[in-house]
Amino acid sequence: MSEDSSRRDTPLRVAIVGAGPAGFYAAVELLRDPRFTVKIDMFDRLPTPFGLVRHGVAPDHEKIRSVTRFYAGGVEGRTVHYRMFGNVELGRDLDLRDLRQRYHAVILAIGAQSDRRLDIPGEELRGVHPASAFVAWYNGHPDFADARFDLSVDKVVVVGHGNVALDVCRMLCRTPEELGRTDTADHALPGLGSNCVREIVLLGRSGPAQAAYTPQEFKELTELSEADLVVSDEDREIHPITRKAWEAEELDPLRAKNLQIALDSARREARPGKKTIRLRFHCTPIEILGQQDRVVGLRVRRNRQVERDGAVVIEPTDQIEDIECGAIFRSIGYRIAPIEGVPFELDKNQIPNDKGQVLITSGGPPVPGMFVTGWAKRGPSGIIGTNKPDALETVTQLLDAWQAGALPEPAAVVSGGEIEALLDRNGVQYVTYSDWKLLDQLEVQSGQAEGRPRRKFTDVPTMLRAIGDARLSTIRDQQIVSTAGQGKG
Ligand SMILES: Cc1cc2nc3c(=O)[nH]c(=O)nc-3n(C[C@H](O)[C@H](O)[C@H](O)COP(=O)(O)OP(=O)(O)OC[C@H]3O[C@@H](n4cnc5c(N)ncnc54)[C@H](O)[C@@H]3O)c2cc1C
Repeated sequence: MSEDSSRRDTPLRVAIVGAGPAGFYAAVELLRDPRFTVKIDMFDRLPTPFGLVRHGVAPDHEKIRSVTRFYAGGVEGRTVHYRMFGNVELGRDLDLRDLRQRYHAVILAIGAQSDRRLDIPGEELRGVHPASAFVAWYNGHPDFADARFDLSVDKVVVVGHGNVALDVCRMLCRTPEELGRTDTADHALPGLGSNCVREIVLLGRSGPAQAAYTPQEFKELTELSEADLVVSDEDREIHPITRKAWEAEELDPLRAKNLQIALDSARREARPGKKTIRLRFHCTPIEILGQQDRVVGLRVRRNRQVERDGAVVIEPTDQIEDIECGAIFRSIGYRIAPIEGVPFELDKNQIPNDKGQVLITSGGPPVPGMFVTGWAKRGPSGIIGTNKPDALETVTQLLDAWQAGALPEPAAVVSGGEIEALLDRNGVQYVTYSDWKLLDQLEVQSGQAEGRPRRKFTDVPTMLRAIGDARLSTIRDQQIVSTAGQGKG
């Protein structure tokens, strides 16, 4: 019998760890392939699916969240082939060996869960926050429901020129009415809506043509009802090489658009009574200044752009500046949290892999049956859609390995209920996909009553209780229907 025909008879059992975009794109791709029967169990440490689409994407970007309909459409009704086990964390409730014993392949789609630090003196002061924590707080991530942010300060600095930094600025500038139409977590609405911040300094190391944010998000900062984006004359300066490339239309189109927006749309002064978002370029933070244990400012070193081998590069100057502020949000990137048993390269912030096949080290031999996708595979970059071709590449590797008979045979598969038995033994209260649908319905109903897309559950025990209650009432409804049916007979 050829490898191919033997493979058609045995269902391919795949564990996907992480129910974010990358995990879902991988599941959809696996289920779509007509050549194989695939059985997927998807695990997530949270009871709710969709990763950063739920807990990262800003609440005022509701339309972007509609991508979850595509994920749901790809798995719903496929109960024989797809199951979700939410509230199950790899490394806490299960370890990698547990999965490798029960599945032909494990796909790690765990994203990048922690943030990069500035690594400068003063970072421990009160009022210095990772933007990731702030975002998770206003988005109702259960791990951050109790986080505290003092928004009674007049001036804040947001360090970083990526889209997440822009989200933080925008959310600080939204009015209570604007926020009240979103699914911002209930616990964040009052503080965020009535924050006292009047000025936000949005600080980056390089120039307006090097910023990582995308033009669409950047343009939004110029269209806020209660805030103005301001760029000083000094910060409008462009290096002659950049200007030449720009004028010759040789600049990357996204960067060219960013430059155009910075020069055209930004004001020199904010309208009276409005908040100011002061866009600053060419500044590297070198120390956070404090009084007692609270932040009172940020010391930066000015950079300048110089030409080296025909390219524009950043070079530090002697010019030091102190920027007064009452809070700092650092937004300079995310880090992948290592998992025991999974190869990890700290310097590259990546699980070493070749097109999604996990390797022992970069360029080294593969770890049979172990795959990776999404941010954990390529680092924290790209938009939601970037994860789709990324997942397809990983799934192609996996299916090729399956077809070639290169996946290890799981040792502990007997009857099919092994993973539930293990989770029960470990005392894990897991959440299925239909449980999630109950939660989803409750959130949407409760939100719609207030003219909002949903009101999120923000703590795990409450979610588990709500699921228990909803299950009970579904059973009661079914009993009533069946009793009524018997009466008719
Ligand atoms: C703040 C923020 C805002 C963003 N906004 C946008 C936007 O507006 N538009 C856009 O296109 N892109 C946006 N992005 C980018 C987009 O969110 C990412 O490209 C995408 O979420 C990455 O997908 P992922 O599946 O790799 O990771 P994630 O979305 O992080 O999903 C990883 C999942 O793995 C789970 N997990 C982690 N560790 C474990 C474990 N040990 N056991 C079990 N489960 C685990 C997590 O709970 C999570 O659900 C944003 C990113 C951030 C950080």
